[in-house]
Amino acid sequence: MSDFSTTDQQTLDGKTAQASGAPLFDDKGYTSFAWLQNMDMTPFDFPYINQLLVQGYRNWLQQSNGISWVNEEHTAVFNFTGVRVAGREEDDDEDLELIERCCLSREMEISQRKLRDGSLAFVYMVPVFCRNYKGEAFAALRFTLPAQHSVPEQDALLAAALHFRSCFYTRFEYIFMEDILGMKNRSDREGRRRSILFQIVKRMHDKIDVEGVLDEVFGSIAYLFPHVDITLYMSQDRHSRNPQVKPLLLHERDEDVCVRAFMKGQMAVNEPVGTEGEMTEIGIPLRGKQGVYGVFHMILPSGAESMKKVDVELIAMMADTAGTAFENAKLLEQSNVLIHELRLINELVQRLNQSLKLNEIFEFAVQELLKMFLADFCCIVQLDQEENCFKVTSSNVESSRLHSYSDEDGFAGLIRRTGEPLIVSDYRKEGKISSDFMDMTDSLSLMAVPMKTSGTPRGAILLSSKLPHFFSYDNYKMLQMLAPHIGLAVTNAMLHAEVRRLANMDMLTGLYVRHYVDKVIQRHQEKDFCGSLILVDIDQFKQVNDTYGHQTGDQILKSVSDIVRSATRSEDVCARWGGEELAIYLPQLGVQQALEYAEKIRYCVEHETQPQVTVSCGIAEWNWLDEQISIESLFYRADMALYEAKNEGRNRIVIDHVSNS
Ligand code: GH3
Ligand code: MG
Ligand code: MG
Repeated sequence: MSDFSTTDQQTLDGKTAQASGAPLFDDKGYTSFAWLQNMDMTPFDFPYINQLLVQGYRNWLQQSNGISWVNEEHTAVFNFTGVRVAGREEDDDEDLELIERCCLSREMEISQRKLRDGSLAFVYMVPVFCRNYKGEAFAALRFTLPAQHSVPEQDALLAAALHFRSCFYTRFEYIFMEDILGMKNRSDREGRRRSILFQIVKRMHDKIDVEGVLDEVFGSIAYLFPHVDITLYMSQDRHSRNPQVKPLLLHERDEDVCVRAFMKGQMAVNEPVGTEGEMTEIGIPLRGKQGVYGVFHMILPSGAESMKKVDVELIAMMADTAGTAFENAKLLEQSNVLIHELRLINELVQRLNQSLKLNEIFEFAVQELLKMFLADFCCIVQLDQEENCFKVTSSNVESSRLHSYSDEDGFAGLIRRTGEPLIVSDYRKEGKISSDFMDMTDSLSLMAVPMKTSGTPRGAILLSSKLPHFFSYDNYKMLQMLAPHIGLAVTNAMLHAEVRRLANMDMLTGLYVRHYVDKVIQRHQEKDFCGSLILVDIDQFKQVNDTYGHQTGDQILKSVSDIVRSATRSEDVCARWGGEELAIYLPQLGVQQALEYAEKIRYCVEHETQPQVTVSCGIAEWNWLDEQISIESLFYRADMALYEAKNEGRNRIVIDHVSNS
């Protein structure tokens, strides 16, 4: 045993208090110190007790105040090798001899001696024995009394020596008391830390958001260890409002304590190299059951009160708790994000499906996507396969509306070629692709996904932000999830439009059906000032059928329809009125202008049909001054005029009387 600063109750002879058999408390609950009084030294401990001898000697002198021969002038104490450790200095050789003698005889030895100052004195050397251990002598006390001094009884000297021994053992027992006290302090400290840890754990688990857990960790460490500089390096792309949270760069060198802690999932320490001012660096992983999320990096000040092992362990325990709490909060956050995403998709899909109008769908999708991703710009482009170009169908960038560009260009072109979505975090560094959309909007971040209808790419959705690294990977995944729904809504709207178009179409002639013209005329009569209606009827068509057959009859009906369509303007509405009778509504035209179109038709039919047929036409007009404006009266008058044309010999045009007047 090299010193007395033992950390447990180990005694100088290697036994423990408990092992000595005496309980710390008696049956009444009082502390019993019997075990302490049973403690003793062995000869192995003797080389280390000089300091105790000195302390015991000082106490003895103090307590013997008043006894004329117990003071530094008249006494000295020697250790087991005969070296004087305290008290009056005299002749060493003579003392050594006396000590040997008294230890051997186990009795007080007396001699007469001439002192250094020449005076005569009696010297009493008293051996001091261990209190239990085989009565071994561990020291000797010397009393030096001048010959003329009244000599005390020998028993008084022995009693004084016993008193010294008692003072020595009191100091000896102090060692154990100090140990126990130290232990108590440590356990109190540990208890306090455990209770703090418990509270921290509880509070951490109360936090259900990731930021809350991180704040709690930093707050707790700052509270417990105000001198520790701590940073959390997160391995994932995580934006934290906490300035102590930074990204973990794994390409750092191997010596980096954080990289080591992250890779091994264990605490890593970089000890100071030794020169003054060096710091100790510790990396503690933020670890959950599913993996390591980051590393707490601590810099412990050197020179100043360095962190004890227990402190680091406490921080490691907190990091473990934080890891679990972080993971739980993260899982909750992820499931909330998922629920939120599902809700958004659900709402978007519902609202997309509420409309079957393409324009509305595109406009709505642009507005919703901008809101959802907090993007600055959104643009939906559709592929025009006939013209090999992209057309912007909807966008919040005014200048890009109705803009069209080559299907090879920009990011939309890339998407068309690859069929894959893409994300750009910094357009300036992208370099390869030049994009009108990005240039025009001064954007740096981009997410772009293909928009497919019926499984084939028919366009792209582009979302951008002026900030670099704006869109997260979750945003990107979300947009990819949404794109098919937008594509589906577009497909539905397109199919619906087609069905409606077909429902208004006559299959044989490719002209509109009667009820469609009715609707068109009604709409025009609500807002226009005037309009004309031409009814066209093929002359003697029954005969054509009879002569050439129905198929040829159909052919002729188609030819006449084609002539009608090409002889009129795009805003005029041509319809099959029924059988071999056609109707043309000419918005904003009076009968005289309508007559020109009718004449053109009549002429073309007569000259272009094979077998040749002719047509008769009846024309009527309405204008806003008419007493009665209705589709029925307009048709009636046109029909009357047609009837007249037939009666007058066919292959001619008659204008209704009212319209002509
Ligand atoms: P007009 O009008 O000059 O008085 O004599 P029309 O013979 O043309 O008149 P009518 O009303 O007597 O006969 C119309 C004929 O048109 C009857 C029918 O066979 C024929 N027709 C009507 N719809 C079609 C059709 O879709 N295809 C064919 N091939 N013939 C049709
Ligand atoms: Mg006819
Ligand atoms: Mg007819």
